[in-house]
Amino acid sequence: MKLPAFLLASALGLAQSFAQATPLVYHPAPGPTIVPVVSSQGIPLAPSDYATPLAPATLLPPSGQQCKIGSGLYKIPVGTGNARRPLTVVSKSPQEMLSPMYVASDIVNVPYTYTSEGQLYLFLQHLLKPTDIPYTETLRAPAVKAFMAMADAAASQGIAIKLYSGYRAYDTQCGTFNHKIRNEFIANVNLHRENHVDEMSAIKSVNTRSAIPGSSEHQLGTAMDIVSYIPSGPHQGWNVEFEMDQTPAFAWLQANAYKFGFVLSYPKSASGIPSDVNPRTGYVYEPWHWRYIGPVPAGRYQACRARGMTTQEFLRALNKNPQFVCSVAH
Ligand SMILES: [Zn+2]
Repeated sequence: MKLPAFLLASALGLAQSFAQATPLVYHPAPGPTIVPVVSSQGIPLAPSDYATPLAPATLLPPSGQQCKIGSGLYKIPVGTGNARRPLTVVSKSPQEMLSPMYVASDIVNVPYTYTSEGQLYLFLQHLLKPTDIPYTETLRAPAVKAFMAMADAAASQGIAIKLYSGYRAYDTQCGTFNHKIRNEFIANVNLHRENHVDEMSAIKSVNTRSAIPGSSEHQLGTAMDIVSYIPSGPHQGWNVEFEMDQTPAFAWLQANAYKFGFVLSYPKSASGIPSDVNPRTGYVYEPWHWRYIGPVPAGRYQACRARGMTTQEFLRALNKNPQFVCSVAH
């Protein structure tokens, strides 16, 4: 049935006024002021090189939609958490998951010279204006500042570390997780043509290496994947791989990262086998995944680390009792 023109017009008008009544306008907070530092290459960086406030088009507002995993048969829990407290624990536990709407207010760009992808542009830096170089990674402002200071300190001792992956919005993590599930299917089909891989087992398998949206520390904007150059083998390059822990850079991070406020989130399981899931975190060993919690808590964590406590366990204890300390093991 065709609607009379005047009815259609009033329906459209109603729809328009409804749209005007509930606009989705997003105002990102202005970027912070950061004191310029000198990069590891000795080139002074302008503040705009590393603390560019993100344009609204770059930092997409959260859709607020629950992430649909695969066909949607498996409904993931929706968290309510935020990180207004800097030591917020984020885990697979639904009680410790972040809300799909949670975005930190001070997300800034990471200068490309500090990212692994930015290595591509180092060759072109004299030909391109900094504004021509796409920013690929972002983090919360305090985490960027601390990471740059740490990378500079490492570089001064001949150790190169780069940021591989920083802040990931809930919606980004949703896309990443679904992409990994698709890859899991492809890998299994290629490796074991006779094996049927059901969706739930693919999701479970991917979830030992990648967080379900809402349970990723990357949504905090203070967690990051740090890589060093893997010199040989099938994973040669600036890659996120277990071999990271065989590099001098990892040894340097294990000895020094806490001084800059960083802690390792996902240690090896008791078996010592990197690919075994650590039941205390729910993830395999991730020598590349570090979280910025600030130098004072990270310093205090060291005695707890010596006692075998995970970062999450330490932060839970600290959230319950701010005076919590571990006595040094003898
Ligand atoms: Zn990570």
